[in-house]
Amino acid sequence: MTGITLDQLRGQVGGDVIAPGDDAYDEARTVYNAMIDRRPAVVVRCGNVGDVVAAVNFARENGLDLAVRGGGHSVPGFGTCDDGVVIDLSGMRSVAVDAKSRTARAQGGATWGDFNDATYVHGLATTGGIISTTGVVGLTLGGGIGYLARGFGLSCDNLISADLVTADGRSVVASADENADLFWALRGGGGNFGVVTSLEFRLHPVETIYGGPMFFEVEDAGSVLRFFREFIADAPEEFGGFPAWQIAPPLPFIPEDRHGDTFLAFIACWAGPLDQGEAILKPLHDVAPVVAEHVGEMPYPALNSAFDALVPPGLQHYWKANFVTDLSDAMVDAHLEHGPKVPAVNSTVHIYPINGACHRVASDATAFAYRDANFAPVIAGMWPDPSQNEANIRWVRDYYDATAPLSQEGGYVNFMAGDDQDRIKANYRGNYDRLVQVKRTYDPDNLFHLNQNIRP
Ligand SMILES: Cc1cc2nc3c(=O)[nH]c(=O)nc-3n(C[C@H](O)[C@H](O)[C@H](O)COP(=O)(O)OP(=O)(O)OC[C@H]3O[C@@H](n4cnc5c(N)ncnc54)[C@H](O)[C@@H]3O)c2cc1C
Repeated sequence: MTGITLDQLRGQVGGDVIAPGDDAYDEARTVYNAMIDRRPAVVVRCGNVGDVVAAVNFARENGLDLAVRGGGHSVPGFGTCDDGVVIDLSGMRSVAVDAKSRTARAQGGATWGDFNDATYVHGLATTGGIISTTGVVGLTLGGGIGYLARGFGLSCDNLISADLVTADGRSVVASADENADLFWALRGGGGNFGVVTSLEFRLHPVETIYGGPMFFEVEDAGSVLRFFREFIADAPEEFGGFPAWQIAPPLPFIPEDRHGDTFLAFIACWAGPLDQGEAILKPLHDVAPVVAEHVGEMPYPALNSAFDALVPPGLQHYWKANFVTDLSDAMVDAHLEHGPKVPAVNSTVHIYPINGACHRVASDATAFAYRDANFAPVIAGMWPDPSQNEANIRWVRDYYDATAPLSQEGGYVNFMAGDDQDRIKANYRGNYDRLVQVKRTYDPDNLFHLNQNIRP
């Protein structure tokens, strides 16, 4: 090492500094996707902004790779590295809510479970991910898609400000009034610009929702997908939800003799007046016989953690994605060909709608460029057994090959795989050159390169 030594770093950091040989090392280097098996030189469990500054300076001065980990969900494993520094923010998870101003500030390692639980007690929420263990910051920096997106926009559209530590070790604020170029880039540009120590969000009145999953037979999937295409085009914006290919898990509301069968599920969320929920969902419910359902009133955080058990840490992950403007008949046919072949109960394909409020933000107003796309589907391969890797990856790739020609060129950066780096320009379209300019200003040496990387 040419700069600060590991011993000096230990003296500067209040949180744990974990290196090979330490008892906690194996646990500290483990990320959510079990395919990723990397051995960092050091994992710094930061407890405050000062710890983050010290860890950034340590990586930069020693010329080491730097990975930043919040919730740890990155499918390509960007939250870890070989022989470099991992900044682990899992010790910084507090969420402070100001109910009067309807805002919340989440620390850099908070998960959506932390966030939703804190805001729910005030009857408030913002757009966030559908699994409670996903990190707030990683999801928001890429855009942020969830049940409330049609009503309130992407997660990044609800950002008010960000505190972050930049590559030179400065702690800066980014908002519409301060470092506005950086604030623009953070809303979609991913982890390219620094370590976010907290994000401040706008909240909205959402407490109890009406929704949940309905399971339709594969033979009816075409009717459901075509209905969804028409319905979602102008459905009230309080309606969020998506079709999903799903092998039935052994849940009590699903007939026992159908456990293990494949269905097209629809996961609905009505965040408007509760007494309207049943009527709003009725046309969808009536498309075809519903084999099993668990639909009703529930706390918003309950829906956002309802599927956690299907995706525990330690699965193998391989995902692919493209944005879609038109769910054409040819596209529906491609889904009907590949969806029923979903190979594992953990795997799925979700077709998230991103119209409504997401479209009211101009394509160049934030780094997230695809404001005219109507859908953000994800082909999410997730399975427990590494000996099944080849078959599961093949399913994802075949599905992707069939749908990509009918899709937009770019996709949502947070659904991209490790082998998607060459698609970075397409993911940002006309915003790419401006992102490069901001990158040159804040990270000219590309210290933050373990991400869907915008090269300076
Ligand atoms: C099970 C599962 C469910 C998901 N559901 C959704 C969903 O509903 N909606 C959706 O939009 N996406 C969803 N995603 C995708 C998700 O948005 C990305 O995987 C995201 O990168 C995860 O963030 P994380 O903090 O959990 O991951 P990490 O692996 O910790 O971080 C991923 C990357 O984000 C950046 N990052 C994270 N924290 C910080 C920070 N504090 N400062 C700077 N950079 C940071 C870094 O570049 C890091 O490499 C899901 C992913 C999984 C695995």
